[in-house]
Amino acid sequence: MMIVMREGATEEQIQHVIDRIKRNGGDVHLSKGEFRTIIGVIGDKEAIAELPLEGFEGVENVIKILKPYKFVSREFRHEDTLIKIGDVVIGEGYFNVMAGPCSVESEGQMLSTARAVKSSGATVLRGGAFKPRTSPYSFQGLGVDGLKLLDEARKESGLPIVTEVMDVRDLEVVAEFADIIQVGARNAQNFLLLKEIGLLRKPVLLKRGLGNTVEETLMAAEYIVKGGNTQIIICERGIRTFENYTRNTLDISAIPLIKQLSHLPVIVDPSHAAGKRNLVEPLTLAGLAAGADGAMIEVHPDPENALCDGPQSLNFKQFENIMQKVKAVAGAFSKKMRLAV
Ligand code: PEP
Ligand code: MN
Repeated sequence: MMIVMREGATEEQIQHVIDRIKRNGGDVHLSKGEFRTIIGVIGDKEAIAELPLEGFEGVENVIKILKPYKFVSREFRHEDTLIKIGDVVIGEGYFNVMAGPCSVESEGQMLSTARAVKSSGATVLRGGAFKPRTSPYSFQGLGVDGLKLLDEARKESGLPIVTEVMDVRDLEVVAEFADIIQVGARNAQNFLLLKEIGLLRKPVLLKRGLGNTVEETLMAAEYIVKGGNTQIIICERGIRTFENYTRNTLDISAIPLIKQLSHLPVIVDPSHAAGKRNLVEPLTLAGLAAGADGAMIEVHPDPENALCDGPQSLNFKQFENIMQKVKAVAGAFSKKMRLAV
């Protein structure tokens, strides 16, 4: 249930509604907009349903939300959520490209990649320090040393960084370094991790799980918002299907669908969806056309020798070519690109 307060409702009126809900065994989640406050009720108990809230002073409307996710739904918040990281705004009509290697490998690799992707128009630098690998014998990432290299690349380039956390035990250190904390596809339903991230006040990039429905993805986001952290970007990165020419199947319809169902920004990850470098460009453009707020693309100075995901990684020139096309057509899809500083 959501209680929409009138424009200009007083603090006392808002507090009175909150007190009554709490006294009847519920809890609340407040969303204070520029003009009006919306009170989300957690724990829709019968005792609350019986309260004549419509008649309370300052209440404009009481809306029953039938969907299993509430705070991430468009019904709860009509306007798009904007995520601000310094000068970068995600979800404000911009198409933000997050680019960088799958894994942080060395100082030279990170610094050269940061410079290259920035000059092509990327606004966020990516790189994994803690890597979820299918095989325990594969490179597992540099861990905290990788985070330090990301920090160096951020200082030199001015680009904010997005990096993955795999385990609750690493959350503190990852949150200390990251501008955006990434939850990977394999952890999309790690509810304990999602709950802990919900207690932070830091942007999160939540990837769709390999076998998760759109509703399950929004429920995962709901876990984070419920803790009070509303800064979530959803990432469509492909799902597992019977098709095996591609690594995953990009569910392009999920992009406009999630944007209709939710107020959260959505980006596309063509690299992990395709698993193949030569599909990254068409899938990026498809994501843009479908209304995505950005893309996450893997770029490496020497993809042939990358320690992780080389076959889907682009070299600097290939990335530059895609960015040229994205910039050329973004306007046709009502998206703006930030100019290089
Ligand atoms: C990644 O971004 O490097 C990654 C592991 O992605 P995903 O969780 O989508 O597989
Ligand atoms: Mn990868």
